[in-house]
Amino acid sequence: MTLAQIGVTGLSVMGRNLARNFARNGFSVAVHNRSASKMESLIDEHGSEGTFVGCASLEDFVAALERPRKIIIMVQAGDATDAVIDALVPLVDQGDIIVDAGNAHFPDTRRREAALRDKGIHFVGTGVSGGEEGALLGPSIMPGGPAESYAALGPMLEKISAHVDGVPCCTHVGPDGAGHFVKMVHNGIEYADMQLIGEAYALLRAGLHLSPKEIGDILAEWNKGDLESYLIEITAEVLKQTDAKTGKPLVDVILDEAGQKGTGRWTVQSALDLGVPVTGIAEATFARAISSQTAQREAGRDVLASAAGDFHIGNREGFIEDVRVALYASKVVAYAQGFDQIQAASEQYGWHIDRGAMARIWRGGCIIRARFLNRITEAYERNPELPSLLVDPYFTDIVADGLSGWRRVVSQAALAGIPAPAFSSSLAYYDSLRSERLPAALIQGQRDFFGAHTYKRVDREGTFHTLWSGDRTEVEA
Ligand code: NAP
Repeated sequence: MTLAQIGVTGLSVMGRNLARNFARNGFSVAVHNRSASKMESLIDEHGSEGTFVGCASLEDFVAALERPRKIIIMVQAGDATDAVIDALVPLVDQGDIIVDAGNAHFPDTRRREAALRDKGIHFVGTGVSGGEEGALLGPSIMPGGPAESYAALGPMLEKISAHVDGVPCCTHVGPDGAGHFVKMVHNGIEYADMQLIGEAYALLRAGLHLSPKEIGDILAEWNKGDLESYLIEITAEVLKQTDAKTGKPLVDVILDEAGQKGTGRWTVQSALDLGVPVTGIAEATFARAISSQTAQREAGRDVLASAAGDFHIGNREGFIEDVRVALYASKVVAYAQGFDQIQAASEQYGWHIDRGAMARIWRGGCIIRARFLNRITEAYERNPELPSLLVDPYFTDIVADGLSGWRRVVSQAALAGIPAPAFSSSLAYYDSLRSERLPAALIQGQRDFFGAHTYKRVDREGTFHTLWSGDRTEVEA
């Protein structure tokens, strides 16, 4: 019997489309699902697209694969993934490669990788972005795990990934949980990007009394320039959509409570652990949480004062341009923070992640694909040790050009009482980075006062404490 080159177990929307993608790219694919009906329907409906080997049992599935076996698990993250790994381990051999392409939390991936490494099995936690369509037509793929396994697996993943300018949107991210970590931050950035576009829409709507369709046209126009991205493109489509039942713009009949599956929360939790300020992602995650706080919103809607002035904009074109530059600058901040978080984790876990390569593999296949990612790759090529994207000359200049507009938009939003949390916190972050002095000095004084936490001085080495409850002289701690 001819053995299959790769196997996919878990044939719901993602696994099914990934298996078809492999088959369409000329690989023979063994396919398995806990309940055999999904495997059978895949072969019934798409068997002609390539070489599939349908397997009813996990034993048959493992036996159908050439060695070293390459097995992709595409099941629910969490317990289901552990259950499938546990069932596979007794069936595979040393040197075989088990790939978890689901949305695992990276600490789980680190745990699983270490456990399987002890048994001589390669475990590759892999981020896959692009949803159902990406899985079929070419996703962005972020594999972690041992570099050795990438030699066998990488060429296959690269072949089925999206390609931009002939370059695959797949590369080895780093060892153990690096792939799932980067996928998590990717999703966090996606939250920030979506929130920022949402704030731009809200400001244009309130400030210029434009219809959703008119704002959709503006976004479609922006999509021809620096802001060109999948998210801007689909937002324009959503805004132009009319509800068939009411004849109203669809966005006006959709309940304004944003859902989340948890990757934004994971990103913020990890950023807190690493001590990296990802204010854009955090604001976006909290903005979704606020939107779903029905009781608080109902209680606040009628009783909280506004003291807001009229949101009257005299210069229509000028305001649209201000919102555009505020969106672009805030987006640069959100990405700069996300890349800082990747760098911090890379240092903490010894992953050696190439940040420019991450921007490169996000250019196609995934939700945050955008023209601007080329600029990020170029920035890290110019300086792989760049301390912040914002200090790369390209980004420094482009943010400086739009800075007055950004400030006008944030202040107008505040004066008019329009919430723009991600726009305003991004600007505060930018101003923090450029400040000569921060009030952190005062905070150190407060901490020393109530807790004798000590402080350092700007003019002398050492650690100091003021005898606050004594004669208030300073002593060296
Ligand atoms: P899903 O709904 O997350 O999972 C369903 C699959 O998991 C089915 O094949 C199911 O088998 C299997 N499964 C559940 N519990 C199992 C167990 N204990 N043992 C064996 N198999 C089990 O499927 P999905 O939407 O295709 O997503 C797959 C993975 O990709 C998830 O981790 C998801 O987070 C990730 N992901 C999804 C997207 C997306 O857009 N949907 C995008 C990127 C990543 P049965 O058919 O037998 O129930």
